[in-house]
Amino acid sequence: MTRQSKRAVVVTGASTGIGAACVEMLIDRGFFVFGSVRRTEDAARLQARFGADFAPLMFDVTDASAVARAAQEVEASLGGATLAGLVNNAGIAVPGPLLHLPVEDFRRQIETNLVGQLQVVQAFAPLLGARAPQGGPPGRIVNMSSVAGRFATPFLGAYNASKFGLEGFSDALRRELMIYGIDVIVIEPGMIATPIWDKADNADFTHFDRTIYGPAARRVQKWAVEGGHAAPGPEKVAEAVLRALTSPRPPARIPVVANRFLGYTLPGLLPARLVDWLTARRLGFSETRKKLRADALQSQSTADGGENGQ
Ligand code: NDP
Repeated sequence: MTRQSKRAVVVTGASTGIGAACVEMLIDRGFFVFGSVRRTEDAARLQARFGADFAPLMFDVTDASAVARAAQEVEASLGGATLAGLVNNAGIAVPGPLLHLPVEDFRRQIETNLVGQLQVVQAFAPLLGARAPQGGPPGRIVNMSSVAGRFATPFLGAYNASKFGLEGFSDALRRELMIYGIDVIVIEPGMIATPIWDKADNADFTHFDRTIYGPAARRVQKWAVEGGHAAPGPEKVAEAVLRALTSPRPPARIPVVANRFLGYTLPGLLPARLVDWLTARRLGFSETRKKLRADALQSQSTADGGENGQ
């Protein structure tokens, strides 16, 4: 079978984790896959691993001209055929309490997980069929959101903002692209064991240690990293991506959560104020507030004593 006879898919963030698992699954099911990486050594490693049904693309999703060049490269190699799918998987998680998160870190989170996705969609949409009809049926867009795109967690506010944003972006895009027959499907994984958790473990929290959130943020980081390492592997997410690309009528959202009721359905049913209360209890916020008040009283009485003594 030749490369031209296979339907082709672009997967961003193919170097590791969910992206690499998607590449493997899609090649296994007969697709030709273009996978985006940022380092030449990753390109060479993936080429050696996946062979003739894979071609690396070199771009950072925040670099508009590199993304446009990659789209031209894919167009040239498609020889007039339509791209079957675009899997917007590339992403990062920037942790930290919002009050103390450097604004440039927040911007980097949104640029990578949201603005970057728009750049990639705009560059590849014509190849998926967002133009005068070409060879083959229109392709599909699969956006890698997260359970964190539905439910927010303290100290993951920047990531939540990016994924909540991606959810709204995807609904609007799906409705707009109906005009071309291009479907948009959102994948919502819970915790999955990938290198993203090693990156979270290596995140520098020293800046936050000096704030009132220090101990609680450390606890959440530890809990998340341990949970992430113990989570299931990315294969189920790759299966969901395959379903999104090949099912005749895929749902608009595909959650991939080990315990669907506890991890997805129930949090959606609980009132927000109840979740606030449970979160504050779990993180010991009322003790911290009591201590804050006691410290304030103490410094007030010290100041009063100082004034009276003058
Ligand atoms: P990984 O860290 O293993 O993979 C992230 C991928 O994104 C890497 O290939 C990375 O490339 C790439 N990437 C990061 N920043 C950029 C950028 N600016 N431009 C281009 N590529 C970039 O993590 P996962 O596989 O876990 O994450 C994949 C997606 O799944 C993300 O969108 C994440 O939010 C989402 N997700 C993950 C969950 C989990 O528990 N693991 C749960 C829910 C959603 P490089 O190697 O060059 O850094």
